[in-house]
Amino acid sequence: MTSKIGLKHIHAIAPYVGGRPISEVARDYGLDESKIVKLASNENPLGMPQSAQDAMLKAAADLGRYPDSNGFELKKVLSERLGVPADWITLGNGSNDILELAARAVAQAGDEIIFSRHAFAVYPLATQAVGAKSIEVGPTDSYGHDLPAMLAAINASGPKAKLVFVANPNNPTGSYLPAKEIEAFLMAVPSSVVVVLDEAYNEYLAPEQRYDAIAWVKRFPNMILSRSFSKAYGLAGLRIGYGVAQPHLTDLLNRIRQPFNVNSLAQAAAIAAFQDTAFLQKGFELNRAGYAQLTNAFDQFGLTYLPSAGNFVLVKVGDDDEAGSRINLALLKRGIIVRPVGNYGLPQWLRISIGLTEENAAFLDALKDILAQQ
Ligand SMILES: *Cc1c(COP(=O)(O)O)cnc(C)c1O
Repeated sequence: MTSKIGLKHIHAIAPYVGGRPISEVARDYGLDESKIVKLASNENPLGMPQSAQDAMLKAAADLGRYPDSNGFELKKVLSERLGVPADWITLGNGSNDILELAARAVAQAGDEIIFSRHAFAVYPLATQAVGAKSIEVGPTDSYGHDLPAMLAAINASGPKAKLVFVANPNNPTGSYLPAKEIEAFLMAVPSSVVVVLDEAYNEYLAPEQRYDAIAWVKRFPNMILSRSFSKAYGLAGLRIGYGVAQPHLTDLLNRIRQPFNVNSLAQAAAIAAFQDTAFLQKGFELNRAGYAQLTNAFDQFGLTYLPSAGNFVLVKVGDDDEAGSRINLALLKRGIIVRPVGNYGLPQWLRISIGLTEENAAFLDALKDILAQQ
């Protein structure tokens, strides 16, 4: 039944489907919560850093007060490390918040927002929420972003084009864009179109893949760099991320954000986690080892997977369009939660977040078993 209440473009939105919570899967399949392995939401398998827990315990004493609306202490730490003034930084309730603020600041009904096919599911959501039109570009053979094609789409949109989302690495495909390609893109995009470079997985890039995105923010007044504390920093449950852009753009985001969009615990934890280089390094190494563990096994099983620069791998589990949901269900029954990606237009694939060695092994054992029974 369609309600008469509500805007048409809001009714058209398909809500975000996340990884299933452990407690829900335990209830639905009659499983013991403690035995469930969740590799579904690209969370840090090390959990939250101890340094962040300590900082939050301290901050908890002050929860009767509102958070610092301007996030002074966290911006100071970010500003020093990133080499930009504090008024170039926007804190967000997750980097998801930054993506939405960017869309709300520059686009409305009649406008167009451009992104790649098989890119992060929040891009169409942020687009539809403001009544703008999604222009999906691709896919390419590599399932990555085709930046020249995206540029052509921007140019074809003309004045309607307001924003383009680029994820590097991309979720759910794990694809990576070399710096040269992004730079050429930034140079070619009309200055009236805002480019959001979403680097939620930036910290997982191999040393030879890294580049200086802050230098681009300084050079391109139409760029917003978005980063997250949810993945490598292990703070997904707290909801905190940040955007970096020149002050004229940062000012726009600041006008429309909720005054207290980032809570006190999240700010305290992020300050600690950002400075906890040992935690970051440990997670990085664990991720590399887990990537090798998973992909070696996929090779042995004869499964196709996409090379990933993030903390997850997309693997093809069958040739029919039911394969992803079928294998996913069989895994769920064994207490393994991964992410089906049919809603990303990839029904033959599953996205596996890289977990602890023993979690990866449990998943691989279950998968091997399930494939043998197909
Ligand atoms: C996880 C993710 C985010 C956002 O995460 P937050 O928890 O909101 O910071 C943004 N972009 C991509 C591509 C992601 O995968």
